[in-house]
Amino acid sequence: MSMLDDYAAVTGSDVIAQLHQLAEPMQGMKVVHVNSTRSGGGVAEILTKMVPLMRELGIDTDWEIISGEGDFYTCTKGMHNALQGHRIPISQQLLDVYAKTNADNAEALRPTLEQADFVFIHDPQPAALLQHCPGRRGKWIWRCHIDASHPYRPVWRYLRERIAGYDASVFSLAAFAQELPHPKYLIPPSIDPLTDKNVELEQAEIDAVLEEHQLDPERPMLVQISRFDRFKDPLGVIRAYQLAREFSPHLQLVLAGGGATDDPEGATVLEEVRAAASDDPNIHILLLPADAHRTVNALQRAADLVIQKSLREGFGLTVTEGMWKGKAVIGGDVGGIRLQVIDHHTGFLVNTPEGAALRIRYLLHQPEKLQEMGEKARSLVLENFLITRHLREYLTLMVALMN
Ligand code: UDP
Repeated sequence: MSMLDDYAAVTGSDVIAQLHQLAEPMQGMKVVHVNSTRSGGGVAEILTKMVPLMRELGIDTDWEIISGEGDFYTCTKGMHNALQGHRIPISQQLLDVYAKTNADNAEALRPTLEQADFVFIHDPQPAALLQHCPGRRGKWIWRCHIDASHPYRPVWRYLRERIAGYDASVFSLAAFAQELPHPKYLIPPSIDPLTDKNVELEQAEIDAVLEEHQLDPERPMLVQISRFDRFKDPLGVIRAYQLAREFSPHLQLVLAGGGATDDPEGATVLEEVRAAASDDPNIHILLLPADAHRTVNALQRAADLVIQKSLREGFGLTVTEGMWKGKAVIGGDVGGIRLQVIDHHTGFLVNTPEGAALRIRYLLHQPEKLQEMGEKARSLVLENFLITRHLREYLTLMVALMN
């Protein structure tokens, strides 16, 4: 059985038939994705699945990685941060390393890239490859996965010069799109329903996770899965929980995130969270290893309510993941959370701990509403935020650029 057939079991066979139909004009065409890492991070995670799925659709798809020395990554990290609004200039020396690394990588990749029908360049790292491929015959697309809504202008101007020559750009949200002299497309991220993070779990596995972390399956549970980061507002979540507890005295709160041992800010935030939780035995702070996907899955499934009270958020995959598990989500009224939490339908958008507490109280006392919102949440993800939709939009984009 093919991989696409596995997805058909989730999305229905019409969705898969449509993918085959859209891919029809691209049979045998050459597509190359380029980024700077094969593992780690959302881009690699998506490409790991996207590339074999495109191949299965009859498109000759390759995935190339560019590589460089330490200074190259220092520079591209600076670019990443600058696109996300950090006002920190990048030295000419680092920009020269960036330019040279792209030129060097182009030497090896040029034959492949110049021959390809479509080239997807992901994020800033390989963005300068285009200028080293003067004989290119296909369409080039710059795929930006970053929240570029308020870029630091000097850095963006440098990158823009290298991106302007592309045939199209793709951003995740309208708010992230920058002015460019070519068509811009909006394609939000997606989750994969067949990974450990999102597959259906047996009740026994969920129960075992609850037991391991001393959570009571009989009592209501509020869950936020997030790095310990101030933008995720864990202290606001604790405050909301404390207010809600006045009306739901059995409520338990789970704040689960990575260990953050090598991240000084993460450790500080974790200390703040521990202090705010004080000695409340009903606040469970869980430090999970990075690969605890099934644990995260189980916690999201066991939750009565998923909360993601971010103060700033690119997209918020934890929101998508919670909704996919049929949970209403209480989300901060920011960034990509607004695309997913349709206020009063798939959850509630909130701005303050008081607002969140009000919604927690309401939903815990209205089990029918909670279930109805959870069902709508799952449908919204099924229609909009699965990898099959992401693939469909890449195909549609390619068809549009062929004409
Ligand atoms: N995540 C995880 N373990 C943790 C914390 C987060 O696996 O301890 C996952 C989470 O399930 C989601 C991703 O990391 O898939 C976080 O993505 P999101 O867009 O929510 O936030 P980001 O961390 O990118 O700001």
